[in-house]
Amino acid sequence: MRRLERRAIMCLMLAAVLFLGIVVFSWRFVTRGGKWASFYGNTQVYTDGVISRGSVCDRNGILLASCTEDGIVYVDDTTLRKATAHAVGDPGGNIPYGAVNYFKDELIGYDLLNGTYDASRDGKSIQLTIDAEANRTAYNYLSYYDAGLIGVFNYKTGEIVCMVSTPAVDPAYYDDVDPDSAVYYNNFIQATLTPGSTFKLVTAAAAIETLDMEDYSFDCDGYNEYGGDAFRCVAYHGEEDFYDALANSCNGAFGEITRTVGAGTMKKYVNQFGLTSPVDIDGIQTAKGSFSFPGDDDVALSWAGIGQGEDLVNPCAMMVYVGAIANDGEAVAPRLLKRTGIFRRRSGKSLGHYLDAGTAAELRKMMKNNVESSYGAGNFPELDIYAKSGTAEVGYGETSWFVGFIDDEAHPYAFVCWVDGGYGGAAACGPIVRATLYTLIENN
Ligand SMILES: [Zn+2]
Repeated sequence: MRRLERRAIMCLMLAAVLFLGIVVFSWRFVTRGGKWASFYGNTQVYTDGVISRGSVCDRNGILLASCTEDGIVYVDDTTLRKATAHAVGDPGGNIPYGAVNYFKDELIGYDLLNGTYDASRDGKSIQLTIDAEANRTAYNYLSYYDAGLIGVFNYKTGEIVCMVSTPAVDPAYYDDVDPDSAVYYNNFIQATLTPGSTFKLVTAAAAIETLDMEDYSFDCDGYNEYGGDAFRCVAYHGEEDFYDALANSCNGAFGEITRTVGAGTMKKYVNQFGLTSPVDIDGIQTAKGSFSFPGDDDVALSWAGIGQGEDLVNPCAMMVYVGAIANDGEAVAPRLLKRTGIFRRRSGKSLGHYLDAGTAAELRKMMKNNVESSYGAGNFPELDIYAKSGTAEVGYGETSWFVGFIDDEAHPYAFVCWVDGGYGGAAACGPIVRATLYTLIENN
C-alpha cells in the first residue's frame, strides 16, 4: 500500500512538472513569439538579411517605406525620407529604434494563431503616430543647425505626432555611410543633454510643493555671487517675485531656491518626474537622465538646480514631464504605433500623477507669464502657448532649448525642441516649434 502511495505521489509530481513546463512555454510563446518569428534565420521573411514583408505609413496613411524582396523601397521625396529616417529605420539596421528594425514582428504580419503564415505574403502595413508632413517642416528648420531634435506628442493619448532628429541619413542611399556616423543617432530617444534653464520647471515644481512661494522675493544684481561662484544672469534683474524669477530665468534666484528646497527633496522630485528612468515607447527604452545634488556642497547644488553642472536629461522624458504639467499633473506614456498587435505591451497609458493638480495649474500660469513677458505672445499668433526656454553652456559653446505645450482641445500637444548652437532658446527653437505646430494643426 505504501509503495502504491509513493508511486501515486511520483506521478502527481511528474504531472505538476509537465504542467509547469506548459505554462512557462505558453507564456514565452505569447510574449516572445513575435521575436522568434522575426528571427534573422527565418528566410520566409528576409531577403539578403533585409526584411522583405510589410510597409510603414504615417498617421494620415502616407506610405513611407515598403519592404519587398528587392529591398526596402522608400518614399520618392528626399526631404521626407530624411525627416522620417529615425522613425522608419534603415535597411542596414543602424537606426536601432526605426520601425523596420524594432517593430519587425508587427511588420511581417506575425500573429499568435497564424504565426507568419499569410496568404498574400505581403505582410502588414504598420501605421505610425507621426505626421510625415510635420516632420518635413521640422526637418527643414532643424537643418540650419549642425544637430537638433524636436518631439511633439498628444499629452492625453500619448501619440507622438512629430519626431525628428538631425543630422539624418538618407535611408535610400546609406551604403557608403559609416555605421558609427551621427546621422543614425536619434537624439530624441538616445541622447542625454544638459537641460539648462528648462530644468527650472523642475526646481519651481519642487518649490511650489514644499515651500511657501507667495511672498518670495529676490534682489538680482546680475552677478549673484555665492560661495565664491558667480551665478551670472544675462541682465541685471533687480527685485523679483517668483513669477518674474522664472520669466527672467534668473540664475541667482533659482540657485537660492534650490538651496532652500534642499538636496534630498531635489533628488526625490527628479525621480518622481520620471527624469532618471528610461521612457517606454511601445517597448523602446529611451536613455535615462542623471543628476547630482550633493548635500554637502551648496555651490554644486545651486548649479544642479539651474540645470547646469552634471545634470543630464533625455529630451523625451522632458517632453513627458511638460505634458504632465499640461494634463493636470498626470503623465501619459508616449507611443509611436497607431495600432498594435493585441499582445504587444500598450503604451499611451497613464503613468500616474507626477504633480498635484494645484502645482500643475500654478506652473501653467508661470509658463504663460514666460511667453507674455519674455518670449512675446505675438511671436506665436493663434497658438495658446505655454513654455520655458533654456540655454545650456556645454564644453564647446551653447545649446538652445524650448519646451512647453499648447492649450487646444483638438490638438493637446506638448513639445520639446533642442538645437546645437543658436542665440537664446526661444529665439532659436521658437520658430521651429511654431512652424511644426502650424503643420500639425492644419493636417490633423
Ligand atoms: Zn537674475
